[in-house]
Amino acid sequence: MQKSPYTAGQRRRRRRRRRLAERICLAGLGIVSLAVLGAVCFGPSLSGFRSAPPSSKAASEADPASAQAAAGAAAEEAGPPRLPAPVGSGPAAVSAAPEKPASASRSPQDHDSKVDMAFVGDILLGSTVERLLNQHGFEYPYREVLDELRPPDLTIGNLETPVSRRGSPVQKEYAYRSPPEALPALVQAGFDVVNLANNHVLDYGENALLDTLDYLDQAGLRHVGAGRDADNAFQPAVVEKNGVRIAFLGFSRVVPFVSWKAGKGHPGVADTYEETRPVQAIEQAKRDADLVVVIVHWGIEREDRPEDYQVRLARKYIDAGADLVIGGHPHVLQGLEFYKGKWIAYSLGNFIFTTNSYSKTLETVILHASCTRDGDCSLQAVPVFTRWAQPKVMDPEAGRELLDRLAGISSGIRIGPDGKILPVLPAR
Ligand SMILES: [Zn+2]
Repeated sequence: MQKSPYTAGQRRRRRRRRRLAERICLAGLGIVSLAVLGAVCFGPSLSGFRSAPPSSKAASEADPASAQAAAGAAAEEAGPPRLPAPVGSGPAAVSAAPEKPASASRSPQDHDSKVDMAFVGDILLGSTVERLLNQHGFEYPYREVLDELRPPDLTIGNLETPVSRRGSPVQKEYAYRSPPEALPALVQAGFDVVNLANNHVLDYGENALLDTLDYLDQAGLRHVGAGRDADNAFQPAVVEKNGVRIAFLGFSRVVPFVSWKAGKGHPGVADTYEETRPVQAIEQAKRDADLVVVIVHWGIEREDRPEDYQVRLARKYIDAGADLVIGGHPHVLQGLEFYKGKWIAYSLGNFIFTTNSYSKTLETVILHASCTRDGDCSLQAVPVFTRWAQPKVMDPEAGRELLDRLAGISSGIRIGPDGKILPVLPAR
């Protein structure tokens, strides 16, 4: 089954046409009318910021997540899990990993080598999201954003849940678990790598975590940040695209129980309370790869700005060799920072999650990063409204408002009309 209605060749041509149009427009913007040309040129490249109803930002639904923990407590202790055939998931959900569009073939020696990545925030496929998937199909969450998720060389998110049918919920406020049947649609939507270093991946115990690793392997999704032991949890996922080797690492600074930390012979998450091991993992990854991307779980929920320790850790990762740091956990967007020529996005917020009445938890971005083999990344944010498990690209007005807010909670950056994020260099 095809990933999109277009063939790989058509997609490449469409992307080339779009980029060419953007370049022409960029040149024109300098001399002609900013407003008119900007609307004509960049509207389509951001999928029109379409479809979010203006009033929907003031959503007032109660969070139904509290009822979820009991929903799937039945524990099966069957043998090793097998990824099931998708059930009731509609035509878009197939079990095979789809082909990413072939990228322009370049020699690994070419300094021009680039990799295009898309990052999204927290993904939950259980709890109230699971009920919506059962109603609308497993591909339902991705329908409105496929144009953002599929074309990049790599698409990456934070999987804030175990994927299993086993285990029982641990004693905590929210305990999540997602059905294995939901994974093929995630792959089909374009996802390549997920982070598991977070405060939910052990919500149903160790067996459910081990199942998660197996199910992700079977689905062809690379994963980082949790493993069968500490060595495994701190191991990068290394992917090569367009002659660029990219190493992904995942760490969590939000670990609810000490027993969740991966250890010698002990499954768990790669934690970053202690800093030596993450720094060593980054240094080692940098020796093996051209680019190192760190996905980190940290911060205070619903806070717009990072804690001091987030800033300190992010910079430490970059000093150790990270080229890009992408954070999550606060369920809202936090600002961006440009440090020593590298980007930090402190939190991307929710991508697919339970819905509540705090409107900022419904605002997120899909963050596109185009990175050279030398580690220079340029970023573009596509504003997205996400509610009831379905992210949608915002209409231009709401999108501009969100980008202005994002620039306002960042330091030393500006965001152009096309969503491109640029550092504001200090005046000499
Ligand atoms: Zn979290």
